[in-house]
Amino acid sequence: MAHTSFDQLGLIEPILKALQQEGYSTPTPIQAQSIPYLLEGRDLLGVAQTGTGKTAAFAIPIIQHLAVDGGGTGRGGKRIIQALILTPTRELAIQIDESFRSYARHTRLRTTVIFGGVGQKPQTDALRSGVDILVATPGRLLDLMHQGYVHLNDLRFFVLDEADRMLDMGFIHDVRKVIAALPKQRQTLFFSATMPPEVQKLSASLLTNPVKVEVTPVSSTAETVQQEVYFVDKANKPKLLIHLLNTRDIPVALVFSRTKHGADKLARLIDKAGIRAEAIHGNKAQNARQRALNNFKERKTRVLVATDIAARGIDIDSLSHVVNYDIPNIPETYVHRIGRTGRAGASGIAISLCDAEERAYLRDITKLINRQVPVVEEHPYPVSGEHAEPIAVPTPQRHGRRGGQQQQGQQRHAGDVREPRNVRQHRESRPDAGRGNRPAAENNGHAGHAKAQGTDFAALTAELMRDLDQTAGGGHAKAAAGSNNNRRRWRGPRRNGGGGR
Ligand code: AMP
Repeated sequence: MAHTSFDQLGLIEPILKALQQEGYSTPTPIQAQSIPYLLEGRDLLGVAQTGTGKTAAFAIPIIQHLAVDGGGTGRGGKRIIQALILTPTRELAIQIDESFRSYARHTRLRTTVIFGGVGQKPQTDALRSGVDILVATPGRLLDLMHQGYVHLNDLRFFVLDEADRMLDMGFIHDVRKVIAALPKQRQTLFFSATMPPEVQKLSASLLTNPVKVEVTPVSSTAETVQQEVYFVDKANKPKLLIHLLNTRDIPVALVFSRTKHGADKLARLIDKAGIRAEAIHGNKAQNARQRALNNFKERKTRVLVATDIAARGIDIDSLSHVVNYDIPNIPETYVHRIGRTGRAGASGIAISLCDAEERAYLRDITKLINRQVPVVEEHPYPVSGEHAEPIAVPTPQRHGRRGGQQQQGQQRHAGDVREPRNVRQHRESRPDAGRGNRPAAENNGHAGHAKAQGTDFAALTAELMRDLDQTAGGGHAKAAAGSNNNRRRWRGPRRNGGGGR
């Protein structure tokens, strides 16, 4: 934890005032560790994920340098781009832009953001009128560079954000082209959640004598998040979810689905049940993703179904509920998912729907978080047949978890029960056990528990089940690869006022 205050970091008054307005009282660890070096002009290698407060860690010193050195006054009457932040997705770009605007609100600096998937006119207009700080995704940046709208000859600060994800998303060539166009003399800040060899190579080629700051991986769940698990047959998951949305006080819910197809189908199912829902995942056009996110933030939709990758980096204020429609096989992913709620000291509820095949994953999660997840036993879709037998989850060492109020019926703990041998054998005999692939579902004979909700619903459910099975391997493995890298998410106080970041 950081023991410094922002006052001790030598920040200028306009920035301190903005941070105060944001409601930030203490620097996050990455901020406390990086800001002093960045103010000295050192390069930085930050091994940290979104959620650690890394945006402010790089934004604040850049703003300070530019404000102190007379940035914002322009040269020859026009502002010149002096700082470039390159980030892989539109969502991140927008969030980073918003952060810069917030922290620089008492300076004269001007920021703009450019990304693909939308018309370029508003972006080129903004560029023409002159900016000091540019936030960009690689493709659109290159486009606008080629068209002559962006000149980076006077760049002083370069931030490469989420380098590992750039690589995953196939942007590395674009990134290299952008780098080739930058002046050699500059301060470079490099962020990545993980450091695979290729990313290491890239960082070594970009950084000069960098300070390295690493934020420790997640291992504990937010104290403010109330966790619960429902054991349910896989086939009944959609019905149980809709039942919960209909009967429990759930103002908004971020529902995690492991596959893109699954996310779409599930959103359609929920929507058909009369609950406004949308899906967000990598296959959606940028516009559609942003629209879905905005609708959710503005509470026009009650449910946002997201894949782990799509949800990574998205920051939603006042999220009351997170639903694990499936249980992630990487325990850190669970921690990361539920960390989306219970922020800023607000209470949040994380509901997990766990089928027979996922019980082993739940056991791994219990081990990681070292606490039991209360089981809600009373619900209309109880587990049928042999899977009704309880599972083994090793009793965690400490039991500090706050119990949380019971929403429905009795609760027991996931740790109180034993795993049936067939589930154990099935899991352990798989060569890919624990590496992201799941066996196909065998468990589709129990739909009779639910009241029929019309043909459409039944057909969609069947389709959803089929899709989940077909895509389980690839989709899950991909999600796991992304989420495996989860790092500690900052859960400190957040801004008081509105505006997402
Ligand atoms: P980031 O990792 O940059 O995406 O930041 C994660 C979240 O933490 C964002 O919602 C920020 O607004 C918030 N945040 C960043 N720094 C602080 C701080 N020092 N105190 C409280 N919240 C912060």
